[in-house]
Amino acid sequence: MSEFVSYEVQGPIGVITLNNPPVNALSVNKGVLQAMLDAIKEGEHDQHVNGFLLIGGGRNFSGGADITEFGKGREPGLATLPDLLAYMDTVTKPIFAALSGPTMGGGLELALGCHYRVASPDTLIALPEVKLGILPGGGGTQRLPRIIGAQRALDFMIDGNPIKADQAAELGIVDEVIKGDLLKNAMTWAKRAIREGKGARRASQLTASLDEDVDTFINAAHERIAKRWRGYPAPPAIIECVKAALTLPFDKGIGVERSEFAALVRSDESKALRHLFFAERQAAKIADVPSGTPQIPVKTAAVIGAGTMGGGITMNFANAGIPVTMVEVNQEALDRGVETIRKNYAATVSKGRLSQEEMDKRMSLIKPSLQMKSIGRADITIEAVFEEMDVKKEVFKKMDEIAKAGSILATNTSTLDVNEIAATTSRPESVIGLHFFSPANVMRLLEVVRGDKTGKDVLATSMKLGKTIAKVPVCVGVCDGFVGNRMIHTYLKEAGYLLEEGALPHQVDRAIESFGFAMGPFRMSDLAGLDIGWAIRKRQAATRSADERYVKIADLICEKGRFGQKTGAGYYRYEKGSRAAISDPEIEALIVEASREKGIERRNISDTEIVERLLYSLVNEGANILDEGIAQRASDIDVIYAFGYGFPRYRGGPMFYADLVGLDKVLTAIRRYSDSPLGVHWKPAPLLEKLAAEGGKFNE
Ligand code: NAD
Repeated sequence: MSEFVSYEVQGPIGVITLNNPPVNALSVNKGVLQAMLDAIKEGEHDQHVNGFLLIGGGRNFSGGADITEFGKGREPGLATLPDLLAYMDTVTKPIFAALSGPTMGGGLELALGCHYRVASPDTLIALPEVKLGILPGGGGTQRLPRIIGAQRALDFMIDGNPIKADQAAELGIVDEVIKGDLLKNAMTWAKRAIREGKGARRASQLTASLDEDVDTFINAAHERIAKRWRGYPAPPAIIECVKAALTLPFDKGIGVERSEFAALVRSDESKALRHLFFAERQAAKIADVPSGTPQIPVKTAAVIGAGTMGGGITMNFANAGIPVTMVEVNQEALDRGVETIRKNYAATVSKGRLSQEEMDKRMSLIKPSLQMKSIGRADITIEAVFEEMDVKKEVFKKMDEIAKAGSILATNTSTLDVNEIAATTSRPESVIGLHFFSPANVMRLLEVVRGDKTGKDVLATSMKLGKTIAKVPVCVGVCDGFVGNRMIHTYLKEAGYLLEEGALPHQVDRAIESFGFAMGPFRMSDLAGLDIGWAIRKRQAATRSADERYVKIADLICEKGRFGQKTGAGYYRYEKGSRAAISDPEIEALIVEASREKGIERRNISDTEIVERLLYSLVNEGANILDEGIAQRASDIDVIYAFGYGFPRYRGGPMFYADLVGLDKVLTAIRRYSDSPLGVHWKPAPLLEKLAAEGGKFNE
């Protein structure tokens, strides 16, 4: 039939097999859908054929649309998924689908267009479009409610996460889970169905069921998503489509789905989400480290330090089934570290998200130790001790003596020079930074810090390992704060200037939270603790050149013993046992006094100015980072901000957002700030100036 689709009549059944590796994507331009349509047409006119069976060659049915075709033109004259599905709806011979492996998006919608579905136990199904800011646009929003009922269909589409074959059977999406040889047993199933007189059962002719009144159901659904999906455009559109499935004839419903889909595709939010989808995949690639680069097998790991970070890092390995040794200096610290891990797992068990058995298995993979020599056999050792260069150097000297040849020596430092640490060892090529974020067992971001001498095998292995332990690894270069913290530093400074010039903490936080940030700078600082930054600033005080715009407010707050949530007060005050930030007149007075002391006349600052200054401080520093080659590409910075710093996904990250606004506009605003008497710290990044002049973009 075609290179990608084969058609063979076996007894009374026309068997259509998809062969478009690796995931049997439904490519339009390769003619995959057209070939399927042709096969069905051929079988329809064949009097020996009483039904069809669609099946995936290889390990799955179909992973969905061909993402390489996104945003590209379509070859004219070739069938699209809606064309194929519309045709299938006219076929009178029953069409069976035999599902296996990941069956996602358009792949599942194709299956929903078939009349019966059986699945092998390894099948995973999902309609994940919501995550890209779009909706199932291949009839899924109209067929699924008719097959399993409106309530269940809505939940499944808004969730977007995969479910297994047995759950799919329970929901009624598949008719039966079939063990053993899928083709053989699905054929037996199909033949029996035909013998029993089961004919074409088109979803389009069914009625979507609902146990309650449509308006009550739809209003409640909108209310439910309003909080959790604030800013995301797809969930309300999906609700409207389900309403159409409940209230309109099938064809009209398809029309609603199509127009909702078209509006979503054009929305900035969906563009941003799709940008991040590709950016995340792109981040895994390093220009001079090709995919075939040899890797170091990682079967065992070790972590030094069982504090806040060490414990979380250790859990990542145990979660991935990798035995891990956790080393501490004294029994008390070690016991505390193990206990924290146990409590963390127990909390997950009590929420029903982990079985006791799985928790026990993970705990048994963790080997606590007071002996440095127990790292000897680990394939990777990650240091997570105090953030002091001398301590780190001492630890790395020992690691160099003890760790086996060829193993990876990693540091979780957040500010120190990885090259300087590497230089204390006899094998700087084995040394790398693996910068996890707190809480390390939860946060997805992993900055993989490439030192001047880091070996390519070490780099390739670390990127792969990052994925194995369920992180989003992004390669960055060595500089103070790497990418994420270097940028957040300028952002927090800007937030401080805003206070001095006339804003108050709650106004700044509210403005940027309305933009979509999970937490504003001052709530974030109170959560992280103000004492760490204070200690660093005190250390730097002697060497800090006269900084005319140095903001003292944070120091003044710390001098009052207010270190944030942990002391019940920081920029805000907190009631006992509560995390709710309450504005505090004492801090407001302190801020007003700080402005007065500096001779700054406080003024009303608009929310627009707050948001612009905070965002553009990130963008400008991001441009410098890009220019210096500390980040490989603008989209890597976007991934870092979306996965590590609570930047709203539907805004696509700071660099994407700047592209959307237009770099000329961003530059004009930055110039305006730098021209103001209090704008001495604003220096437009040369790369921003260059791109703005060329009409270019960061993400080209
Ligand atoms: P922490 O104080 O909670 O833990 C450090 C642990 O290291 C302590 O338990 C200490 O007993 C142990 N330790 C010290 N010297 C040791 C040695 N020679 N051998 C074995 N154990 C030793 O600190 P943390 O917050 O977990 O930070 C650890 C590292 O992670 C630092 O480099 C820090 O900059 C970095 N980091 C921290 C965060 C964060 O948010 N806390 C985020 C990213 C990176």
